[in-house]
Amino acid sequence: MTARGLAVSFVRRALLPTLLLLSTILLWSGAYGPKARAGSPLGIALAVAFLGLAWAVVRRALRSLDRTPPPPREVVELGLSLLVASLVVTQLTGGMASSFYPMVYLLCAFFVAFLPTAPALVLVASAVGLDAGIFAFGNLGDPWLLLATHIVFTCLFAALYHAVLAARLKAAAHAERGAVERHVREAELRAREYRLTSAAHGPDAAEAAGSWMLASVGEVESLVRGALEVAHQALSAHSTALFLLSIDDVSLKLRECVSASDAVDRAAMSAGEGPLGSVVKQRLPVRLCGSLRSFSYYTDRVPVKAFCAVPLLEPAAQGEARVRGVLLADRLEAVPFTPEELSLLERVAAQVLRAVETERVMTAIRREKDEKERFYRAIEELNRAVKPPDVTQAAVRLARELCANLDCCLLTLFEQSASGGRHVVAAALGDGAESLAGRTFDDNTGLVSTVVRLGASLPGRPVDEMDRVVVLDEDAPLPKLSALRIFPLHAGDRTVGTLVAMSTRRGVFDGESRHRLQILALQAAEALVRAQLFETAERLATTDGLTGLHNHRRMQELLDAAFKQAHRYGRKVSLLLLDIDHFKNVNDRYGHPAGDAVLRGVATMLAAQARDSDVVARYGGEEFAVALPETDRAGALVIAERIRAAIERVDQLTDSGPVRVTVSIGVATFPDDARDKASLVECADKSLYAAKHGGRNRVVATDLFPSPLTGEGQVGGASLHGFGPPTLALPLKGE
Ligand code: GH3
Ligand code: MG
Ligand code: MG
Repeated sequence: MTARGLAVSFVRRALLPTLLLLSTILLWSGAYGPKARAGSPLGIALAVAFLGLAWAVVRRALRSLDRTPPPPREVVELGLSLLVASLVVTQLTGGMASSFYPMVYLLCAFFVAFLPTAPALVLVASAVGLDAGIFAFGNLGDPWLLLATHIVFTCLFAALYHAVLAARLKAAAHAERGAVERHVREAELRAREYRLTSAAHGPDAAEAAGSWMLASVGEVESLVRGALEVAHQALSAHSTALFLLSIDDVSLKLRECVSASDAVDRAAMSAGEGPLGSVVKQRLPVRLCGSLRSFSYYTDRVPVKAFCAVPLLEPAAQGEARVRGVLLADRLEAVPFTPEELSLLERVAAQVLRAVETERVMTAIRREKDEKERFYRAIEELNRAVKPPDVTQAAVRLARELCANLDCCLLTLFEQSASGGRHVVAAALGDGAESLAGRTFDDNTGLVSTVVRLGASLPGRPVDEMDRVVVLDEDAPLPKLSALRIFPLHAGDRTVGTLVAMSTRRGVFDGESRHRLQILALQAAEALVRAQLFETAERLATTDGLTGLHNHRRMQELLDAAFKQAHRYGRKVSLLLLDIDHFKNVNDRYGHPAGDAVLRGVATMLAAQARDSDVVARYGGEEFAVALPETDRAGALVIAERIRAAIERVDQLTDSGPVRVTVSIGVATFPDDARDKASLVECADKSLYAAKHGGRNRVVATDLFPSPLTGEGQVGGASLHGFGPPTLALPLKGE
C-alpha cells in the first residue's frame, strides 16, 4: 500500500473516533446545554455530533449493500454515535430532566436485544459513563438522585430486555421441539394404523420412532394415493376416500382422499354408525343410489346420489379376516355404481392392503436385519474380551443394550469348594444393582443356586404368580420385580454361573428378547471359560509350580520394570539373592518331598515378609530373589537380616518332621553397585558367593564402587576375588 493509501486508511479509521471524542468533550462541557447556548457556536458543535452519526450510518449501510458483517469496532462506534446523538437531543430539550431522556433507555435495551453480548455491555457501560460525565463536568447543582435514577433505569431496561428476549427464545425453541415431537408422534400413529409397527409398548416401540418408520409411512401413503387416484378417475367419482380403523377399532379416520369437495371430514368418527359403520360391521361391500341422506364423512351437506364402499379385509393366519378400514367412492349424479365398478373398488382395496403388507414385511425385514447386526456386534464384542472381569462386565452391558426394558442385570459365578460352594455376583448393572457387585451368597439359597444345579433357565412361571421370589438369598436387596429370567451359563457339561435379567415391566422376557438373552448367556459362558483358561495359562507361564511365587522369567520382567522406573525417576532399587544353606543335605537326610516342603515353607515366609511393592520369586532350585523398589543399601540390609533371622528361628514342617534351615543372602543396590540390571544381578550373586564363603547363614553386601568414606560402619570383612573393596557383612547372631 502506498503512503497516500495508508494515510487515507488512517484518516478513515480515525475520523469517527475523533468526532466521537470531540462531541463527548462538547457534551461534557455543556456545549449543547441551555447554559451554553447564548455565546457558544452551537452550529459547529451540532455538526460535530451529527456528522459522526451520519458517517457511522453511511458506513453501516455500505456494509449492508456489500453483505459483509461489520467488525465489532464499527458496531460499537455506531452505537456510541447513536448514544451521543440522543444525549445531545436530551441536552437541547431541557438537559438531564428532558422528556426525551427515555430514548437513551430504549437505545440500551435495543443494544442488549440485538447486539452480541460484549459490544452490548460496552455500550450500556458507555451510556452510564457519558451520563455521569455530563453530571460531573456540567456543574448541574445537586443532581446525584437524578444520575442514580438514570443509571438504575438504563440497567433495568437493558436487563429486562435481556430477560424478555431469553424467555422468548426459550419459548420458541420449546414450541419448535414440540412441533417436531408431534410430527414424529403422528407418523408413529399412522404407522400403527397401517399396522407397520406393533401397537404394544414393547422393546420395539422405541425403535419404531426411527427414521425408517417415517420412510415406510411415506412409501405406503404415496402408493395408496396413486391407487386412489386411479380409482377416482376410473369411477368418475366425486370423492374417493380411504378410512382406517383406529388401533382399538372404535373409530374411523380419513387417511387418504381424492375429492372435488373440501368438505371431507378429517376428524375421527365412530366406527359403529352410518353406511361406513355398517361396512365395518357386516364386513361386506355396500352400494347405494338415489336420494341419500347426508353422509357423516362430509362436514357440510353434500348431495351424494350414489355411494359404494368396500371393507379393507386383511387375511389373518388363523380365524376370519380382520377389518382394517373402508374404501369408498361417491357421486353427486344419480348414476349408480355397477357391480363391475364395485369389483374395481374391491381390487383397489386389495392393492392398498398389499402395499401396506409389503411395506410391513419390508419394515420387519429391515428391523430384523438391524437387530441381527446389533446382536452379532454384541457377540463379537463379548468374544474380544480376554480377561474374565471384562467378559462379565461386557455381558451385563450387552444384555441391557439388546433388551431395552431390562432394568437390572446380574452375572453370577459359582465357585466350587471343598465345603460345597458359593456364588458371587461378578457383574451388576442397572437401577440400584451396582451395590450387589462382589456380593457372595451360599449355595441353595435362591433361584440362582437352583439354576446352577439344574442347568435350566428359571422361573417357568411369571413372577407375579409366584408366592415368594428369592433370587440370590433372602437378604439381597432387589427392585420390585414384574419380570425375571435367570439363564444358566453352560460351559461344556458344567454350569459356571447365571445371567439374571430383571424388569419392573411384565412380560419383557418373553419371545424374541428371551431368545436373544439365552444366546448371549451361552456366548458369555464360552467367552468366560476361554478368558479363564487364558488367565490360567498366563499364570502358569509366569508362576513357579512348587512355591506359587513368580518364576525366573517373570522375575526378570518385573525386575526390568522396577529397574527402568528407578532409572527414570532417579530412585534406588535393591536386589536380594537367597540360597538355602546345605540344602542338598536336607534332601539326602529327609528325602526329596521334605525338601519340597522346606522350599514351600521358605517361599511362604518370604512372601509374608515382603511389602506389596516388593517382587518375590523363585530364582531356581533352592535360590530365591527379592527385588525391593525404592530401597537403599541400608534398608535392604535390614530387610535381608530380618528374613535371615526369621528363617533361622522357624522349623519348616515336613512329612518327615520339622526341619530347620538357614539362608545366605547377597545384597546389591542400584545405582550404588551397578549401572544396569545385568550387573545388579551379577553384584548380588557375588555378594551371595561372599556370604557362602564367609561361613553361610549371613547377609553380605559387596561394595563394588566404594566412595572414600565407605569404610565406616562395615561389619565383617570378606573380600571378593581380588576386587579389593571391603564388604559389608552382618554377622551371625551370637557370632
Ligand atoms: P550351599 O550351602 O552351598 O548352597 O549348598 P547346597 O547343598 O544348598 O547347594 P547345592 O547347589 O550343592 O545343592 C542344591 C540342591 O538343591 C541340589 C538339588 O537337588 C536341590 N534342589 C534343587 N531344586 C530342588 C527342588 O525343587 N526340590 C528339592 N527337593 N530339591 C531341590
Ligand atoms: Mg544353590
Ligand atoms: Mg544352597
